[in-house]
Amino acid sequence: MDFDLTEKQRQRYDDVLSEVRERLGEPSSGEPFTPARWQDAARIGLTGLCLPTEFGGGGLGALDTALCLEAFGRGCPDTGLVFAVSAHLLACAVPIRDFADVSVRGELLSGLASGELVAANAMTEDDAGSDLSRLAVTAERKDDGYRLNGDKSFASNAPAADVLVTYGTSDRGAGFLGVTAFVVRADLPGVQVGELFRKMGLSGCPAGRVAFRDCEVPASHRLGAEGQGSIIFQHSMGWERACLFAGYLGLMERQLEQCVQHASGRRQFGRGIGEFQAVSHRIVGMKQRLEAARLLLYRGCWLMDHGREHTMAIALSKTAVSEAAVANSLDAVQIFGGSGYLSSAGIEQQLRDTVPGTIFSGTTDIQREIVAREIGL
Ligand SMILES: Cc1cc2nc3c(=O)[nH]c(=O)nc-3n(C[C@H](O)[C@H](O)[C@H](O)COP(=O)(O)OP(=O)(O)OC[C@H]3O[C@@H](n4cnc5c(N)ncnc54)[C@H](O)[C@@H]3O)c2cc1C
Repeated sequence: MDFDLTEKQRQRYDDVLSEVRERLGEPSSGEPFTPARWQDAARIGLTGLCLPTEFGGGGLGALDTALCLEAFGRGCPDTGLVFAVSAHLLACAVPIRDFADVSVRGELLSGLASGELVAANAMTEDDAGSDLSRLAVTAERKDDGYRLNGDKSFASNAPAADVLVTYGTSDRGAGFLGVTAFVVRADLPGVQVGELFRKMGLSGCPAGRVAFRDCEVPASHRLGAEGQGSIIFQHSMGWERACLFAGYLGLMERQLEQCVQHASGRRQFGRGIGEFQAVSHRIVGMKQRLEAARLLLYRGCWLMDHGREHTMAIALSKTAVSEAAVANSLDAVQIFGGSGYLSSAGIEQQLRDTVPGTIFSGTTDIQREIVAREIGL
């Protein structure tokens, strides 16, 4: 067993971290990303990390993608941007890479890798969140394609998107096997993107509803086979649950550094507060959660890269990272005291940005259900 990164992996991590710090290291503005900031991330290669090199991507596997996203999350305090770029890559470009028709791959992958195109994943509906077996959006077969109708309720990146990966019911009686996946241009007639959501955190990532009204999608823009949509979605969620959460490892690393620095500098009762065991042990607990979560995430990615069974490993990793990020962010607020509660220190923002990690990509409860099933319960 070898726990070391290779020299190449270490170098790539350091390079991404220093470029991210240079281009995207300033505090979050609290506004959705601008085209310029998206392009800055793209210039570092972050929009195409695991896309094929023939389309301008980095050609990386899951672990190397995760390492780069970890560096992104560490160097960029705008976690909404980290999330937006990661969702574009993992929930959208990955299923296009793996399931699109060769002509559609040619049409879209270069633009997705270069960041010229922004992608959004539109799966969730008002009545289909954790349970995705009964989608109200319909995909009706027409002579040369499909007609989509219905509403998607929560699509990150949608207000800025050029491309949508979406899913509809093509066979109502077939449940899980009646869902079909599509890639749809956002400017196609019949696509309407709703107003920007106001939300608790991840403000750098715009999100909104998406409506399809007699939207005619050519058959070439179906992903995989008819009825394969649920499998394609789970495949993309495998990548997202594994690699996207590496951004949160980076956030926790940066947060830990901030807490150590604050606890060393802040004095009360004539001593640095880090000398009080209550404070130092709190920070040790943060470190322990981070390291444990990191090991689970790296192992999940490693299993993916080696073509090994990874369902339970990824569910454990997603749960561990997302819960550690919330717990550590609460601890960080305590360590900073009143200043942690003020927006200016950026600590309360970390808490707001980490809470949704236990919800998106499948809630913590759903991850536990997966693990329970895998261990035979
Ligand atoms: C920041 C953010 C970004 C998002 N981005 C996207 C996106 O880009 N695209 C997209 O399609 N969606 C997106 N979503 C939606 C997200 O995928 C859903 O919110 C999530 O899957 C949960 O669905 P729900 O909100 O309908 O909750 P529900 O499914 O209604 O769940 C509510 C509660 O019930 C629990 N629950 C439900 N079923 C079970 C069960 N079987 N066992 C135990 N507990 C259960 C859940 O764990 C949860 O606590 C995003 C959400 C957030 C917060």
